[in-house]
Amino acid sequence: MKTIVLKQRPVGTPTLSDFELINSDMDLNPNKGELVLETTYVSVDPYLRGRMSDAKSYVPPFEVGKPLSSGIVAKVTASQNDHFKEGDYVVGMLDWKTKQISNGEGLLKVDGDKAPLSAYLGVLGMTGLTAYLGLTEIGKPKAGETLVVSGAAGAVGSVVGQIGKILGLNVVGIAGTDEKVEMLKSDFKFDHAINYNSTEDMGAALKKACPNGIDIYFDNVGGAISDAVLFNINRFARMIICGAISVYNSTEIPNSISVQPFLIKNSALMQGFIVSNYSDKFPQAMQQLATWLAEEKLSYSETIVEGFDSTPQAFLDLFEGKNKGKMIVKA
Ligand code: NDP
Repeated sequence: MKTIVLKQRPVGTPTLSDFELINSDMDLNPNKGELVLETTYVSVDPYLRGRMSDAKSYVPPFEVGKPLSSGIVAKVTASQNDHFKEGDYVVGMLDWKTKQISNGEGLLKVDGDKAPLSAYLGVLGMTGLTAYLGLTEIGKPKAGETLVVSGAAGAVGSVVGQIGKILGLNVVGIAGTDEKVEMLKSDFKFDHAINYNSTEDMGAALKKACPNGIDIYFDNVGGAISDAVLFNINRFARMIICGAISVYNSTEIPNSISVQPFLIKNSALMQGFIVSNYSDKFPQAMQQLATWLAEEKLSYSETIVEGFDSTPQAFLDLFEGKNKGKMIVKA
């Protein structure tokens, strides 16, 4: 059995030396009410970076020397719990272990016949819910409006843009490579896409891509890209502040422009978003995402990394933009 623990808190950009892989021989025998789980897929997510530091946040920090955890799809290999039987697959927040005991709390059964098991970590999981609920609850989209999404080729962003198209919006994506830009336009039918790494003046590029201005901004990255968006927002624009990956590894307070004048003169809304605040809406949102998927109105991309031991590297690769769509480790 293997476990990945946080060896030390990263300073700045995390490195492999911040993680430790521990091998152990242990028989896992479930007591009454418990089940044994074997990890199938591990989700790596940018927000885990926040939990690696000990700053106060909306979720408690990981503890040094203890296993990390994230969304995991696992197979039930033994069960003394009435709600789960051997052979079931479940998804839940679980430890970075190849095998573990659970009491079943917080686990949801998933059906590999309805959708590939990995999809329950992406489009039918936390990142799909984030895309749908962030866009609809805060963005309040109306057909004909212009939506800009940053981190557009990632797990959340690629679904945001596609939902925008389903709802009749003009959709502009921002991503880090020409290959990603091409994917957004050809696979996901975005109206425009901009490679921020090869664009000198993001403000001008956005002006050109959004001749009618920006009504909704779904922000996954923060920093200079989001500053450029502010110069192009319309009156009553809505900005969903979902993520800020460009500053997650900063060791100094980022040097950003002052947002207040842009908000005031445009009567614009900027709201922080945390998906777990909307848990009462998860069943309806899941249903909608599954329906669009079945109708082939929605598709998704995944980057699957092989081998449980590669989990830390897959996490680090998120900050290098090595994923297209959801980054997942196949254990
Ligand atoms: P992604 O799949 O989008 O992966 C991260 C992507 O971020 C990379 O592929 C890379 O793409 C891009 N990126 C990395 N560094 C930078 C940078 N310096 N500047 C701009 N882009 C960068 O991750 P997710 O879809 O899972 O998450 C997207 C965002 O949403 C994250 O910030 C995450 O923390 C947040 N989030 C928030 C939730 C909430 O409830 N608030 C829930 C889920 C996610 P590229 O090649 O384009 O640079």
